[in-house]
Amino acid sequence: MMFSPTLPNSYDARDRASLIHQQTDLKAYRDDGGTLMKRGEGIWVFDESGNRYLEAMAGLWSASLGFSEKRLAEAAYKQMLELPYYHTFFGKGNLPSVDLAEKLLSIAPKPMSKVLFQCSGSEANDAAIKLVWYYHNAIGKPEKKKIIGRVRGYHGNTVASVSASGQPHMHSDFDVPLPMFRHADNPNYYRFHEDGESEEDFSSRMAANLEALILAEGPETVAAFIAEPVQGGGGAITPPAGYFDKIQPILRKYDILFLVDEVICGFGRTGNLWGSETYGLVPDMVSCAKALSASYQPISALMISEPIYEALVSESDKLGSFGHGYTYGGHPVACAVALETLRIYEERDIVGHVRRVSPVMQEGFKALEDHPLVGNARGVGLIAGVELMADKAARQPFDPARKVGTLVQGKCQEVGLIVRAIGDRIAFTPPLIITDDEAAEMCSRFAKGLDAAW
Ligand code: PLP
Repeated sequence: MMFSPTLPNSYDARDRASLIHQQTDLKAYRDDGGTLMKRGEGIWVFDESGNRYLEAMAGLWSASLGFSEKRLAEAAYKQMLELPYYHTFFGKGNLPSVDLAEKLLSIAPKPMSKVLFQCSGSEANDAAIKLVWYYHNAIGKPEKKKIIGRVRGYHGNTVASVSASGQPHMHSDFDVPLPMFRHADNPNYYRFHEDGESEEDFSSRMAANLEALILAEGPETVAAFIAEPVQGGGGAITPPAGYFDKIQPILRKYDILFLVDEVICGFGRTGNLWGSETYGLVPDMVSCAKALSASYQPISALMISEPIYEALVSESDKLGSFGHGYTYGGHPVACAVALETLRIYEERDIVGHVRRVSPVMQEGFKALEDHPLVGNARGVGLIAGVELMADKAARQPFDPARKVGTLVQGKCQEVGLIVRAIGDRIAFTPPLIITDDEAAEMCSRFAKGLDAAW
């Protein structure tokens, strides 16, 4: 048994008495508690009892440089001594935010004009949605306001970003999605293809359904389509062959902006700097966060194209101000840490490293398709989803009430591996610094977790 019993005044007891845990079954947590981490080292984290876990999710798809990168701590400390805080409001600013904006524009997946810093992926996507509306008002198309996300897409938890997300359990009883949001099909080929349907044909069907949705809504009312290159929170779902090649011409045909959510895929996760490069995306806006600062500081960025920026300038000229902003947007310490993170990525050729190590992980999971619980394993770079199936031949999922994914996740934790069960899909996004040996270790611990659950 790895977990210590709850003692009065233990962290576990105090945690349960005082904190609301996010995206958590609160009743179960109150009854059973969870795991509190105390320290990190490379791709490993240690709980308060000293148990060691390989963090196969990099926290929340995010701690790209692992949990003990001293250079990031030093960058934060240095900036705190120099200027610990200054905003970017009312015509003022700070130096690290300028350096970081310039750097991001120099590496953007397609030429972008300006960067808006926020504090989280949710805020970056929320801002993107606000800017879509503001832009269309500015250019005299106030009726063009609907946003299309995708079933199981995830873009955050503000009211607008969760509305764009297609996660029913995040909508229920929160009175979202807002009325101007729609959701296109989930592109999980393995689960939803018809017998005999090729990936390309499946992608064509997805694109035809999207076009039908746009026509049913009225193209003059549809403002933007938002998508992650690889759907993360939906279960680490890579797009089927040809998917984005078929979707993008439809967006252009109906003058619909393409918001690309690079919050997980950005900075090397898919084996290129951007998921947009991996899948040939041409975005009008790009949001990024998480690996932007290796998650050592809360920061996100929204990059926007020149025509959108010009419209924002004309609109704020008309209104007297661009009426959007957060106290911590462009925080100098977060920007300094992000700059250092990007320097480390370049110095260590992190993208090249991801390409070299990813076959160990992807082939390791592919080999597990022989396991009786595993229906399909699929991924790209250092992101993968392993789908558990009750009947593989019939592609018959388990009864959700059995919570097989949660069982596997628990068994993995018992063998010192942190994974994330999304329903019956097990997601993997280890820190980008994972070595070949550690990737092999991750696969072997996962196999042990599966065996224990079988
Ligand atoms: N977009 C994607 C693709 C995400 O995976 C997430 C979080 O997991 C978000 C947006 C929201 O980011 P945050 O939790 O920083 O608000």
